[in-house]
Amino acid sequence: MFGLIGHLNSLEHAQSVAKELGYPEYADQGLDFWCSAPPQIVDDIKVTSVTGQQIEGKYVESCFLPEMLATRRIKAATRKIINAMAHAQKHGIDITALGGFSSIIFENFNLQQIKQVRNVQLKFEQFTTGNTHTAYIICQQVEQAARQLGIDLNRATVAVCGASGDIGSAVCRWLNARTDVADLLLIARNQERLQTLQAELGRGKILDLETALPQADIVVWVASMPKGIEIDTQMLKQPCLMIDGGYPKNLATKIQHPGVYILNGGIVEHSLDIDWKIMKIVNFMDVPARQLFACFAESMLLEFEKVYTNFSWGRNQITVTKMDQIGQMSRKHGFRPLLFENLPV
Ligand code: NDP
Repeated sequence: MFGLIGHLNSLEHAQSVAKELGYPEYADQGLDFWCSAPPQIVDDIKVTSVTGQQIEGKYVESCFLPEMLATRRIKAATRKIINAMAHAQKHGIDITALGGFSSIIFENFNLQQIKQVRNVQLKFEQFTTGNTHTAYIICQQVEQAARQLGIDLNRATVAVCGASGDIGSAVCRWLNARTDVADLLLIARNQERLQTLQAELGRGKILDLETALPQADIVVWVASMPKGIEIDTQMLKQPCLMIDGGYPKNLATKIQHPGVYILNGGIVEHSLDIDWKIMKIVNFMDVPARQLFACFAESMLLEFEKVYTNFSWGRNQITVTKMDQIGQMSRKHGFRPLLFENLPV
């Protein structure tokens, strides 16, 4: 059985879905209440592969909210993740994806040191960040959506915001090894980590966001920001492809500007309807029966293939070979990257 550890993207969002999830007592509560709320299994899921194979899983709501980080309630944030992991394990789940901020909190606050949660001895090998599949899908979106918009990769400049992160560095590795993209712009705050990546790639320009955006034909957003940012669309090239893989989204507003094309990044579409209620309730996707985060799909793929190991783990260790491997599983079971609906592939 596979598991998905998820969270909602703001307090407001949490309040609005609590009632529908069957927790009316959570609906009018503030952040303090969510800080003390325990994890809950809120959905049972069935997924059918295009091969005909069927698997079952559970959705664990951790009750973490990004506001906990923004208001420095670190202890509450870390407790949410570790308790959700223990909850998943107690319910006999073999492989669980740490969705959205869960894996970032796990890494940033060294939660691997916590091995025991009450009577549960955590088995980290039964968890995956899902970042290998996310990075693979984002790279497919870069290649295929660029084609849809008539952007020639071998003449294109690609900026990666969050380049030194786990997903960002994997995206850079793939673009460097598997495409002939003309130029790579590397963006993040910590310069040392960017320089390490630049040395590994043997290319790429380290720039701040304001300098990079006007030069980019494609921008991949994979920064771990608890809240999205506003950007001035006037400074962008046209056409400009923006792939926003952040959760919550890195871009604060729905940009509506001719020539600027925004794609929901790190999202896959399954070929068959998935039997679940959660995606309809949380309202993340346009087609909730088929669309989902690629990191969640990674735990489904590992369950289909009975690979009960932490396929994606740690930081900045995702290789192009592992991206190929998960990509092959993804295609075999009927997942494909989300692209622009009205444009030919
Ligand atoms: P990491 O923590 O490994 O990396 C985050 C990157 O963002 C780092 O390079 C960090 O560098 C950079 N960053 C953080 N804040 C800023 C900022 N204000 N400006 C510029 N750069 C910034 O995160 P992951 O790679 O694991 O995840 C990245 C994003 O992808 C997150 O939003 C996450 O929720 C989302 N995600 C989406 C999934 C999906 O299925 N679609 C699955 C998993 C994650 P520095 O600190 O030096 O600035």
